[in-house]
Amino acid sequence: MINPQIRIGHGYDLHRLVEGRKLILGGIDIPHTKGLLGHSDADCVIHALADSIFGALALPDIGHYFADTDPANKDLDSNIILLKSKQECIRAGYEIANIDLTIVAQKPKIGPYIKKMKQKLAASLSISEACVGIKATTNETLGPVGREEAIACFAVILLEKSRVG
Ligand SMILES: [Zn+2]
Repeated sequence: MINPQIRIGHGYDLHRLVEGRKLILGGIDIPHTKGLLGHSDADCVIHALADSIFGALALPDIGHYFADTDPANKDLDSNIILLKSKQECIRAGYEIANIDLTIVAQKPKIGPYIKKMKQKLAASLSISEACVGIKATTNETLGPVGREEAIACFAVILLEKSRVG
């Protein structure tokens, strides 16, 4: 079956935490002493999410569409990446059923920003906030994430065949 009724996707991303950068997660500015390092704005939540959409559609990953060697993508607003993945989803004839994200960060506390992130991501993808799950966990001080050297995000998505068109 080339176009199944449902498609599942998974995405993962991690960026290094450094001083002198803004921390942007899920499209939200989060006050912190460090920010994520990357060619774009390094929003690992949006990167994992967009990759889950590309993956569900069996398309290449973010790097294919937004090369980190392209100067045009320097400090890119990751929302543009998310909109590209949404566009590909629509083009393939699918819509998002639900999203489940797990952010792994030792610091700062992500909980207070989850509501705002849900609103932002739901608005960008034109879906209900009730379809966007976001959880945050620490890494129990273990490994690079636990040592506050990085923040990571896992994303799972379910797409279903569009009922319109
Ligand atoms: Zn990334």
